[in-house]
Amino acid sequence: RPAAASDSSGVGIRLDGVTKVYPGQPTPAVDAFSMSVEPGELIMFVGPSGCGKTTTMKMINRIIEPTSGTISIDGRDVLSLDPNELRRHIGYVIQQIGLFPHMTIGENIAVVPKLLGWSKKRTADRVEELLETVQLSGDFAQRYPRQLSGGQQQRVGVARALAADPPVMLMDEPFGATDPITRERLQAEFLRLQESIGKTIIFVTHDFDEAIRLGDRIAVLSERSRIEQFDTPAAILAAPANDYVRSFIGHGAALKRLALIPVGEAPLGPVTDAGAARVSVADNLRDALDLLVVNGSPSIAVVDREGRAVGSLTMERISAALGVEVADISRPGGVR
Ligand code: ATP
Repeated sequence: RPAAASDSSGVGIRLDGVTKVYPGQPTPAVDAFSMSVEPGELIMFVGPSGCGKTTTMKMINRIIEPTSGTISIDGRDVLSLDPNELRRHIGYVIQQIGLFPHMTIGENIAVVPKLLGWSKKRTADRVEELLETVQLSGDFAQRYPRQLSGGQQQRVGVARALAADPPVMLMDEPFGATDPITRERLQAEFLRLQESIGKTIIFVTHDFDEAIRLGDRIAVLSERSRIEQFDTPAAILAAPANDYVRSFIGHGAALKRLALIPVGEAPLGPVTDAGAARVSVADNLRDALDLLVVNGSPSIAVVDREGRAVGSLTMERISAALGVEVADISRPGGVR
């Protein structure tokens, strides 16, 4: 990832044996979650309904407290932090967006800066900058939420969470309510945004494709409210930790499902250039794929036997997790 453009680049987050048992419930909603998130990492929590995703976000955000275990942000126990200070460190985006209907978009985004006592000028500049960041410049600041589409409202939700430049973002199914096309666009925008802002992000989804597409690492959660595997997308695809993870991604199914995801801005022509790239990949990837092609970009187009692009993974993920060699078709000789 490029160095963060903002001065509050991401900080680390640690969960140590974090468990939540709601009063009167026989089983934990979150069972002994332990993980270490690096500064600037984008972590996906993926799992079925009721596995404890939202509960974990609320504990990190200190809306509720764990029954046992500790959560620290930048090395500090969240329970030792003043809630207002914590609020400055965490941007929270939820599916229901929760924009205030009687406030303009500009006022909605300015909520946290106002709470923090920023000057009018600083707040107005920040609102303008954020609207540009989420590609809603123009008269959007003066409009009301009802005058925006669902996807636009989601972007305002993201802008609002970014307002005070928090080093940590918690995003709970932020694109959950949007149609597939809008969702794809938001995902692509979000990836670009994340590259430029360098926050530490925990992103909840129940959509494995979304997890694969966006995450640096993925925590796969199960119905029994445990973390079954925490690793890079490529490592999880190549070596699922157990039967649960295997069934969750399906044998090769995740890659087939990736066929629904366009490669992005660099469309590949038909891959007829046999010399373009040959890589060795782990067995269950090899089942699904013949070629991995790099076309000068830092991510790899994954191409099936028919030469159709079925997804993309970053170079880093592929080479770290699978130890593959990659050829770059944009370079003479093709090897990098
Ligand atoms: P979804 O994908 O459906 O949003 P989730 O993974 O976010 O699910 P949580 O909302 O964290 O799941 O809930 C985990 C478990 O805790 C569920 O079984 C839920 O019924 C239970 N639960 C959540 N909130 C409470 C509460 N306030 N009191 C009792 N049980 C709760």
